[in-house]
Amino acid sequence: MPIIFFGTRGISWTVDSGEFHCPRCSEKVPYKLKSTRPWFTVYFIPLFPVGGSERHVECRECGGAFREDVLDYRAPKDSSQDYAAELYEELEAGKSIETIRRKLERLGMSPTRSEEMIDEMTRGKVWSCPECGFHYLYSVKPCPKCTTSK
Ligand SMILES: [Zn+2]
Ligand SMILES: [Zn+2]
Repeated sequence: MPIIFFGTRGISWTVDSGEFHCPRCSEKVPYKLKSTRPWFTVYFIPLFPVGGSERHVECRECGGAFREDVLDYRAPKDSSQDYAAELYEELEAGKSIETIRRKLERLGMSPTRSEEMIDEMTRGKVWSCPECGFHYLYSVKPCPKCTTSK
């Protein structure tokens, strides 16, 4: 009987990926959900899987490994999320882009940042009223300002 070099080696593969709140980075970063299963090896060559597979979440920023339930963690909701939703409702209700931008700037957001945020919300689906020059969502037509002043 020759001496057989045997052992096990964990082989892992990516099951899923996405973004999560990493406890170590304490921010939202990309992750990989990995499944690892030990394989029986002979001369370091994996022959067949043994035992069950185990899953863990790997942070792609810091490389930390966590239990799968770390994905259930939701960052505490802050008021800015409600506020963004509120602003979008106002846009849909007929407020001009300029009005919303002024509100954001009053909150202390820089003009570039507020423009970015609005671009993100409207996805460029915006038209400008030839009468007053204000910008509105496509769904807001005719211009609420001009129709009310007439
Ligand atoms: Zn991390
Ligand atoms: Zn108008």
